[in-house]
Amino acid sequence: MVKEKCPKCQTKNESGWKFCTNCAYKNESNGSLTPSSCSYNLVVMGSGGVGKSAITIQFINNQFQAKYDPTIEDRYIKVLDYKGVPCFIEVLDTAGQETFQAMRELYMKNGEGFALVFSITNQRSLSELEPIRNGILKAQNVPNIPLVLVGNKIDLENKRKVTKNEAEAVAKSWGVPLIEASAKENINIRDIFCSLIQQHWDNSGGPPIQKKKDGLCVIL
Ligand code: GDP
Ligand code: MG
Repeated sequence: MVKEKCPKCQTKNESGWKFCTNCAYKNESNGSLTPSSCSYNLVVMGSGGVGKSAITIQFINNQFQAKYDPTIEDRYIKVLDYKGVPCFIEVLDTAGQETFQAMRELYMKNGEGFALVFSITNQRSLSELEPIRNGILKAQNVPNIPLVLVGNKIDLENKRKVTKNEAEAVAKSWGVPLIEASAKENINIRDIFCSLIQQHWDNSGGPPIQKKKDGLCVIL
């Protein structure tokens, strides 16, 4: 596909781009819609070694990092084009037990969506999500906080210990979607974050309204 450079930050975007996926510069020459934007702080949680950092880095940089320091906890920013709306996504890749309790409580309280990750090769990593989810529900004072259950490492099918049915039963009991993914093969990684945005839109009655240049409004 043809790539075109953003005049502001020089990032290469897909041809026909409406806004830059790096700096959100609006390319007004491509279409008359000026999308309103939205922004969310999303948090990736789960036991050590399930692939939280691998998922985050695959989503942010489109690459698989086989080795990543388990103690690193960092925030990343990405502009995601979801259904034509520029979404400013801040992803917090958490580091579990290494983090001070007070810090954990803070991001459980302030997060606007949570990816709860387990590895399909590790039964315990699924049951360890239960107290994490309870902590989030306790810390949040809004109902319907967007959550998604993520079964990572589906490229390791021959080492699977958690069946899809089992994970689906947990997701159903929590009332959240299940996404089976692979950070290594980049399977369904984008969907994790899109699901959290979609849940926000479902809660608020739809995507942000887009304004046309002539002042008329349309809803996507
Ligand atoms: P974290 O502690 O949850 O942040 O886990 P990491 O992202 O550091 O990953 C732990 C280990 O699992 C590393 O060796 C990764 O290379 C590996 N890993 C992460 N995601 C996948 C995946 O989707 N497939 C496979 N095969 N390995 C993965
Ligand atoms: Mg990590």
